[in-house]
Amino acid sequence: MRHPLLKELAIMEALRSRPSGMLTYVLRNILAGADRSLTTRQVHAKLRLLECEGRVQKVPSCSARDHAWAVKEPAPIPVRDRYYLTRCEHCGWRGSSEQCPVYRGWDDADVGCPACHQSFLCDEIGEGA
Ligand SMILES: [Zn+2]
Repeated sequence: MRHPLLKELAIMEALRSRPSGMLTYVLRNILAGADRSLTTRQVHAKLRLLECEGRVQKVPSCSARDHAWAVKEPAPIPVRDRYYLTRCEHCGWRGSSEQCPVYRGWDDADVGCPACHQSFLCDEIGEGA
């Protein structure tokens, strides 16, 4: 049975607050607050599920008895010099402008979306966007 305090959003938020890793029982204490019905075992089971989905990962901890958990962030998109990170407003594709087809007009060049070919990309977006 799923415990009502085992909310994915709350788990991810708590883990994000400590990128170096958080022990299972520490996460349990944060989630549970004064509620004693939530057990570390339940939290661990939920973390194992999230691990299978690739959302969290085990990281080494200072405790010999337990490993810590951290959010598994998606790998950054590599962008080489001369190119920039861009996003398609139409389909949501994002990647390096290196991968985009260039359509040359009479006075300018437009960069197209390699996924949907429906829109031109012109905005440079930051890594965190
Ligand atoms: Zn697109």
